[in-house]
Amino acid sequence: ATDRMHLNKRNSYKGEAEGNEQFKSKLIEKLQKDIADNRFLVYLQPQINLKTDEIGGVEALVRYLDEEGKVVPPVSFIGKYETEGIINYLDLHMLEMVCALIKKWRERGKEINNISVNFSRVTMMVAGIVKKILSICNRYEVLPEQITIEVTESIGLLERRELKTLLETLQKEGFKISLDDFGSRYSDLAILSITNFNEIKLDKSLVDTIESKSKSRTIAGYVLQMCMGLELSHTIAEGIENISQKEILKQLGCEYGQGYLFDRPLPVDEFEKKYLKERRKSDEHK
Ligand code: C2E
Ligand code: MG
Ligand code: MG
Repeated sequence: ATDRMHLNKRNSYKGEAEGNEQFKSKLIEKLQKDIADNRFLVYLQPQINLKTDEIGGVEALVRYLDEEGKVVPPVSFIGKYETEGIINYLDLHMLEMVCALIKKWRERGKEINNISVNFSRVTMMVAGIVKKILSICNRYEVLPEQITIEVTESIGLLERRELKTLLETLQKEGFKISLDDFGSRYSDLAILSITNFNEIKLDKSLVDTIESKSKSRTIAGYVLQMCMGLELSHTIAEGIENISQKEILKQLGCEYGQGYLFDRPLPVDEFEKKYLKERRKSDEHK
């Protein structure tokens, strides 16, 4: 947010167009250097089947490793890349790292069903994005079916027709499309008619008060019913922090859950130890 404010202020100065361009190209340069230096890390958070308590999926979340070795969360850097329209470099880099992981795990005999990546709407609007996504997957022999692309609903109306075509093209290729942060303050039911999302993610704000406010419970219940009515294959609740939230969501018909109750987003090696352990043991018997 601070970065955005800074940018807005900078934009308001007179005759700064050139300065803006310079700022942007410096930022791209820095971003590409950070990518080349492997400063961006994939963190993985499990998605749990609420009925069986088994892991049903994984979400990849970006982190930045700063010069002092501190791990920086996305809220500190995503905004400026979105504002400057260059977040696509980072999103595609994340996709590439995720594909590399799937390949690495496969070579060790551990096939993972699916990993979700977050794509900014800026990324979705990049020319030739489908080809770019496909070529990354092909490079690592990853099937589109193994990738879920999470998009948020904070999308302008004008872009929606374009977005519909794009999402449907991706779905035809085999990718799964997930609607992230549904029920957040940007909510707009019309988004649901854009396409048949393969998954809808109930925003954390609905989950937060689900035990304390009967209203939240009612809203969440209707949202879930609506998703089921639309024959959407999956519903997943974000930000589940305690058992009673989990139980309520399960009763309301929610299929999957993600949140600190189950696990925080973990560095890759920790995730591997914890969630690929059993298969690793069975590998040893071979
Ligand atoms: P998101 O996609 O909605 O991801 C969920 C966020 O909630 C993550 O924050 C996750 O760490 C956090 N979370 C999960 N469970 C809990 C919980 O039980 N309690 C609480 N308090 N938080 C929980 P994170 O990793 O900081 O990511 C924030 C946002 O940054 C993401 O929201 C997503 O919109 C964006 N983001 C992350 N990685 C990428 C990326 O590679 N590309 C793009 N474009 N955006 C990304
Ligand atoms: Mg997400
Ligand atoms: Mg979300």
